[in-house]
Amino acid sequence: MNKFLQKLWQSPAKVPLVSLSTAATGIVLNHLIGQSGKVELTPTIATDMLLALGALLFSVGGVAYSYYKDLEQLKKVHEEEVQVRNGIVFKRGKRTGGQWMPFCPVCEMPADPTVYPKCPDPKCGWQPTVMVKRQVDEIIARLPP
Ligand SMILES: [Zn+2]
Repeated sequence: MNKFLQKLWQSPAKVPLVSLSTAATGIVLNHLIGQSGKVELTPTIATDMLLALGALLFSVGGVAYSYYKDLEQLKKVHEEEVQVRNGIVFKRGKRTGGQWMPFCPVCEMPADPTVYPKCPDPKCGWQPTVMVKRQVDEIIARLPP
């Protein structure tokens, strides 16, 4: 049931479903107000409305909690160690295969370490002034094992 609700919430059908439930609530309230302009709720209807509101809040909380759990899982998958040396960002995590690799300190893209670390994005264009690949290898060798 939870998976069904998650898929329903992620589908484009959520907009018409929310709109229909809002319109239905408006129609019911309008009917209850009646000609007199005063809201006349019997204890049974008031209890039903409170229970429906509680169920709605509970389901919204459930959806929010499922997003929170997904976010925590994604954080663990993308968790990285970060060190900054000589103006270069070095990262180590799952996407680097557990190896320290240089990253562009400006746009955070993986730097091209083949000759010297420079940003592969021509729009960014970051490159260190005097750094050569051997110096980068020495820095990586001094990073935590
Ligand atoms: Zn860059």
